[in-house]
Amino acid sequence: MLHGGSVPHLTPEATLAPVLSALESVLGSARPAALHQPHFAGREWAYVKDCLDTGWVSSVGAYVTRLESALQDYTGIAQAVAVVNGTAALHVCCLLAGVTAGDEVLLPTLTFVATANAVSYCGAIPHLVDVSPVTLGVDAAKLSAYLAEIAELRGDTCYNRRSGRPLRALIVMHAFGHPAELDALAEVCKRYRIALIEDAAEALGSLYHGRHVGHWGLLSAVSFNGNKIVTTGGGGAVLTNDAALAQRARHLTTTAKQAHPWAFIHDQVAYNYRLPNLNAALGCAQLEQLPDFVSRKRELAQRYRQAFSHVELGRILMEPQDTRSNYWLNLLQLHPAYDLLRDTLLEACQARGILVRPAWELMHRLPMYRDCPRMDMTTAEHVERQLICLPSSVDAGSVDADSIDRASPHA
Ligand SMILES: *Cc1c(COP(=O)(O)O)cnc(C)c1O
Repeated sequence: MLHGGSVPHLTPEATLAPVLSALESVLGSARPAALHQPHFAGREWAYVKDCLDTGWVSSVGAYVTRLESALQDYTGIAQAVAVVNGTAALHVCCLLAGVTAGDEVLLPTLTFVATANAVSYCGAIPHLVDVSPVTLGVDAAKLSAYLAEIAELRGDTCYNRRSGRPLRALIVMHAFGHPAELDALAEVCKRYRIALIEDAAEALGSLYHGRHVGHWGLLSAVSFNGNKIVTTGGGGAVLTNDAALAQRARHLTTTAKQAHPWAFIHDQVAYNYRLPNLNAALGCAQLEQLPDFVSRKRELAQRYRQAFSHVELGRILMEPQDTRSNYWLNLLQLHPAYDLLRDTLLEACQARGILVRPAWELMHRLPMYRDCPRMDMTTAEHVERQLICLPSSVDAGSVDADSIDRASPHA
């Protein structure tokens, strides 16, 4: 039992022991070297070999188109444009949402730095917002109240009354695979004429109200980095239901070269962001396994949840209501009374060879984003101290894991 929020009179070792045994009951003797390792159990070798055998390794080739079609089929989003990584996908999303130099773009302070960097690449300024304690994504009610205070519509453009700059877009991020409150956020964006972009880098396979994330944004980004649920080595994609935007995304990511049998005519400053065929081949094989990966990761989340159900120190963060998370990374959320033990726990896990990590440093604490405009960050600041990312690979714990019955320290 917790007494008045103070840490009970146990040594840190005794307090942490149930956490360590819960972790070991799920992971068995496996000691993965990363929080999320790639899992190659399908046709990866065959497809990559095919690229080498045919010589189609670079930025033109059948696997790129095939990967895009597979993404469209899986997500139900009309258009996918494969690019070199998730950060590039976000950059393109911002450019096509009309973000230009001197604009402000709203985004959560609890995110991977790429979300903010993509905005900076456009010469725009990240405007940082707080997150919901339930979804860990942007808090729609808090955002709405904040905009009522600082935002002003002039014609079809929303301005930050304090800085005088346009508030051009909101990037929501589906943290650790858990969908943000998309309906409410889309409504706020509509009311203020702010473009909605989804950073779904971590959320391939996650559903909100039965539909794949990425449907709510004007444009959305996914990542196929080596640590994501499926990987192309490095890679990503822009998703959109707008065919004209997809066409512009293709143009912008292929140096804006006009189709021509021999001439090099480029009609704007653009990017070499197209995903190589070699990477796309790997991605095609990975996407074939995505439904299986999602169900295995959801099973792992259940095993963590059960193993920690008797642990007083914290709980496993479960998916928000009416969503299906891909559980990209499982999170242990420490009870507020124990958040001072986070670093001791990280060290204790490290000592046992169990790789765990804190969440990202909040954006408003990084040197280059410290002076960005922002709202009150109470929730993010609390939650960040409580989060510990747990090993979450598709095959985590499936090798030689002990029975979950041994999870309970009381057993
Ligand atoms: C991984 C990730 C990205 C960037 O993807 P890369 O493919 O590594 O460039 C962007 N946003 C979030 C939230 C991510 O987790």
